[in-house]
Amino acid sequence: MRTGIATVSISGNLSEKIAAIAAAGFTGIEIFEQDFIADPSPPREVGARVRDAGLEILLFQPFRDFEGLPEPLRAKAFDRAERKFDVMGELGCDTVLVCSSTHPAALGGIDRAAADFAELGERAAARGIIVGFEALAWGRHVNDHRDAWEVVRRADHPNIGLILDSFHTLSRGIAPDTIRRIPGDKIAFVQLADAPAIDMDLLYWSRHFRNMPGEGDLDVTAFMRAVMATGYNGPVSLEIFNDLFRGGSPLTVAKDGYRSIMALMDDVRRAEPGVSVDLAPMPPRVAVAGTAFIEFASRGEEAAALETLLGTLGFDPAGRHVAKDLALWQSGPTRIVVNREQAGYAGAAYRANGTTVCDLGIAVGDAAATVVRAQQLGAEPFAQKVGPGELDIPAIRGLSGGVLHFIDATSGLGAVWDVEFRPPAPLPEPSAAGLTGVDHIAQTMSYDEMLSWSLFYTSLFQMTKAPMVDVIDPDGLVRSQALEAEGGALRITLNGAQTSRTLAGGFVATGSGASVQHVALASADIFATVDALFARGFEPLPISPNYYADLVARFDLPDGLLERMQAANILYDRDGDGEFFQIYSRAVAGGVFFEIVERRGAYAGYGAPNAPFRIAAQKRLARAR
Ligand code: MG
Ligand code: MG
Repeated sequence: MRTGIATVSISGNLSEKIAAIAAAGFTGIEIFEQDFIADPSPPREVGARVRDAGLEILLFQPFRDFEGLPEPLRAKAFDRAERKFDVMGELGCDTVLVCSSTHPAALGGIDRAAADFAELGERAAARGIIVGFEALAWGRHVNDHRDAWEVVRRADHPNIGLILDSFHTLSRGIAPDTIRRIPGDKIAFVQLADAPAIDMDLLYWSRHFRNMPGEGDLDVTAFMRAVMATGYNGPVSLEIFNDLFRGGSPLTVAKDGYRSIMALMDDVRRAEPGVSVDLAPMPPRVAVAGTAFIEFASRGEEAAALETLLGTLGFDPAGRHVAKDLALWQSGPTRIVVNREQAGYAGAAYRANGTTVCDLGIAVGDAAATVVRAQQLGAEPFAQKVGPGELDIPAIRGLSGGVLHFIDATSGLGAVWDVEFRPPAPLPEPSAAGLTGVDHIAQTMSYDEMLSWSLFYTSLFQMTKAPMVDVIDPDGLVRSQALEAEGGALRITLNGAQTSRTLAGGFVATGSGASVQHVALASADIFATVDALFARGFEPLPISPNYYADLVARFDLPDGLLERMQAANILYDRDGDGEFFQIYSRAVAGGVFFEIVERRGAYAGYGAPNAPFRIAAQKRLARAR
């Protein structure tokens, strides 16, 4: 499959863009004219540079305001086209995008436009060029791909084809199935973009808020299914105008784009079995069974403080690694590893971030297949020298250098704890804290990394996105996006900080890249759990008495419940589906903390209304220290 991305989609100068696009795995690029004009080299050299990077120039774009003009503007438009054809010849590019006119003098009429394109087709044929016509959603007379197709059909010229752009079709609510009636060989090129559902001016929405397929709310899969059902077998290319991407890392954005195309085309192939998609087979999205372990890289006093906290949270020492400085802690089914190794990735993670979650173990049905899918989506496999007595567990690198291990039962890898760890003697009496597993893992990052992470997880795992919510920090806004696997087997909240003055932003600023800021453990009876933890010396995050005064005003609570919550510093939320109780630990070692939650009924949230009071309490405590 030929895959491309428009140079306008990523930041940097043309050379930086070309390097990033090639490194991410694309086969070609769309040259956005402005990027080309800004480059000092002659077109022939630019073309050679692209090909030297192993890429082809799939498309030259955009050529604007061509069709429907009265004379003398019409003749001038043809002259402009000839000059573009000259440049394309030197660049070594044979397809040009003409977007529907927004020129105030442009006249309507399908036949008039078709006649213009028939004549342009003649001129293009002389140069071996294909002209593709794209309906801009805000075009003056043509703003719907059905009209653009009618222009192309009536132009009836072998060098004139249609260009489809998912944003222009889907943003206007045009049914993508209308594409199915177009012959695939008349589609000259296909551009893809998603976008969040925002009600705003189409032009502004398109120029600033497009994002990668799978990152937004448009049904790009339905669009591409319809395209592929026509028999189209040309390039699949991304054209993303996004303010964050323009300022982001070129390689990160290019890799996200590659991941999104691979995941999308795999979805299309599965949903539309009749079509042929030229893509290596890949395992389907992975169903997550749960969190197998959470591993912290830590040292010295920080590690000691973390382990003390784990002890008060109901974790018991459950083993030491046969060869490495790894301590296993366990509470019910939840395993936490404290890694004090100086060497390897954990040592590097500690040096970069201080105490940090360096590895997440995810329980899946088939660990090897998970790595295969991840690699086909562009992830880096992770391997470290396997020592004596150690198992080779399939793993990949996450987006910020952290590691994800995949553990399955069928291959016997679930036995890692028995094989690699020696239990303490004597075994401690298991704590009766009643923790039933990991409820959610909260990952904190800068705001502009959120889309990358949500795409990373949702393209690899069967996870759905909850609507984004605002978390109000007294010093700024934090955006929070929850991802959830079927039945809550894995819940991840992505928290994007816009300023380092927020608690989340401060955490990001002191580490490098996204990392886990808190882990929430589930309890079936938070009051019983909290009693057990207090007996072990657990110190909760103290919550303001005013919070409880306000709770009484907001909710009708049964007798005694408020007093019990206030005595224990338990926070409360309720929605139409159920109730939520939560209590926080104090932060240790660089800002990591724990939360214990109880969900009653089908409450699906994370207590976002309580976040301002939790954050204020954490900041108060940090200042007091
Ligand atoms: Mg376009
Ligand atoms: Mg939480």
